[in-house]
Amino acid sequence: MTKVLSDIEIAQQAKMKPITEIANEWNVEEDELELYGKYKAKINLSIFDRLKDKPDGKLVLVTAINPTPAGEGKSTTTVGLGQALNKIGKKACIALREPSLGPVFGVKGGAAGGGHAQVVPMEDINLHFTGDMHAITTANNLLSAAIDNHIHQGNSLDIDTRQIVWKRVLDMNDRALREVVVALGGKPNGFVRQDGFMISVASEVMAVLCLASDLMDLKERLGRMVVAYTRAGSPITASDLNVHGAMALLLKDAIKPNLVQTLENTPALIHGGPFANIAHGCNSIIATKLGLKLGDYLVTEAGFGADLGAEKFLDIKCRYGQLKPAAVVIVATIRALKMHGGVAKAELGKENLEALKAGFVNLAKQVENITKFGLPVMVAVNKFFNDTEAEINLLMELCKDSGVKVALNDVWAKGGAGGAEMAKVLVDMVENETSNYKPLYEAEASIPDKVNTIVTEIYGGDGVIFTGKAKKQIQKLQEMGLDKLPICMAKTQYSLSDDPTLLGAPKGFKITVKEVKVSAGAGFIVCLTGDIMTMPGLPKVPAADRMDIDDKGVITGLF
Ligand code: ADP
Repeated sequence: MTKVLSDIEIAQQAKMKPITEIANEWNVEEDELELYGKYKAKINLSIFDRLKDKPDGKLVLVTAINPTPAGEGKSTTTVGLGQALNKIGKKACIALREPSLGPVFGVKGGAAGGGHAQVVPMEDINLHFTGDMHAITTANNLLSAAIDNHIHQGNSLDIDTRQIVWKRVLDMNDRALREVVVALGGKPNGFVRQDGFMISVASEVMAVLCLASDLMDLKERLGRMVVAYTRAGSPITASDLNVHGAMALLLKDAIKPNLVQTLENTPALIHGGPFANIAHGCNSIIATKLGLKLGDYLVTEAGFGADLGAEKFLDIKCRYGQLKPAAVVIVATIRALKMHGGVAKAELGKENLEALKAGFVNLAKQVENITKFGLPVMVAVNKFFNDTEAEINLLMELCKDSGVKVALNDVWAKGGAGGAEMAKVLVDMVENETSNYKPLYEAEASIPDKVNTIVTEIYGGDGVIFTGKAKKQIQKLQEMGLDKLPICMAKTQYSLSDDPTLLGAPKGFKITVKEVKVSAGAGFIVCLTGDIMTMPGLPKVPAADRMDIDDKGVITGLF
């Protein structure tokens, strides 16, 4: 039997082209390219001026059903679909999020695709890449330092040290830093207060970078970020501390999209990676727009299942970026559908047609949801080696019987060639069906109305319960005039409801919103429905445990 190669072994065998060659083939001029070694580059934003009259390509979003903890293959499908479109003669680029070091050394693994559908150089992308995380972390922590220094120097803004909402960040899973006390050690070190760390990708700075249209918009958004409240309850922003200009200059290179390639030399823009829980979970608007200028197709993804990730992509990112998607691809796996049909994790490897049929309701609901945004949609069945033929046939039939376009997706095992059928179905759909994209709700509506629309229309719930604390916070946001923003739901990814154990397409439930916070710079209102982790911890045996590097610099164990 031939050995199944690990992701890193496949990536190390890749025949990469110098990034200058990829750039040249894809209409990026030498002056617009800022090289980071031989295989990575940033693209200068001046390219938008040169290409302003070029019509945009078609925007395709890859999303998924509610996943199992292992992930159902959105990134893998995004990469593979990009490769497949090029294989069938279309010019397609892809856009992905940048991996965070926390998950890389923790449990989940990287975000560079998998099998024969990966972006490379995989080690660099998963490790320090082009330094964007460092820049974001530093900009965030400059603001933290400015807050404590302001208080130390006399606190002329009257910041209430019990109401500082801005936290320090680090790009690492480190539970010991969730709650900390800063400024111990006496008068020269400032005023002692309780603080905490989040992982860098949970920072509003990351969300701002991903939603900004250019450097000046980035600076203005940074200035609007609320960091604390005065004792009288008025918000204090980064611009009140006059630190947003310095933060913007720390981000002057991070705002430029990063260009790499897939295993099949398809251009890949990997830029920005906000958490999909307390933020919107997609790569930057700038990278997406650039991809639309470079290719006839731009394939991108949004974190978590379609109820969370696609909804936020369509209601937040597309709204701010004035992006009009052409179509949506929903990734489904047989194992996750069986789980939605009631099968326990340990039994997912066994054929179970009844469970697959029962679990199909989750996919059907996600398909229905996408049509509510006026978008053409297809299903991509991500094939795993232990899926049986009978299961695959049944799933294809279930889709066809309910009038949904479907294709088998075997890009993990076969790269672009394994996605040719999927690419053809997609192209046919994009060329023959009209996208009537519209967001689900008006940003001008009240916070309760917006959340209620998401819960009843997308989650299939009966309504929303706001806790007393959440109600007070909504009232305060209304008073501050900060309630007319899109909603960023923070909810479990495993269920359409806020209870991770309610699988399938549950009915008769209500969503409880425990907390409502504004991210005024990013431009959304976060509604927290459960315990949201903004600083993950490492598991008992972290992924770091199996990683190593030898005397020749060859890395092992990085997936
Ligand atoms: P998501 O983006 O939905 O979280 P990923 O694309 O990152 O999922 O995939 C999660 C993991 O599953 C990766 O390690 C990837 O290599 C693996 N994977 C994806 N598709 C397949 C498949 N068809 N067969 C085997 N492993 C797969």
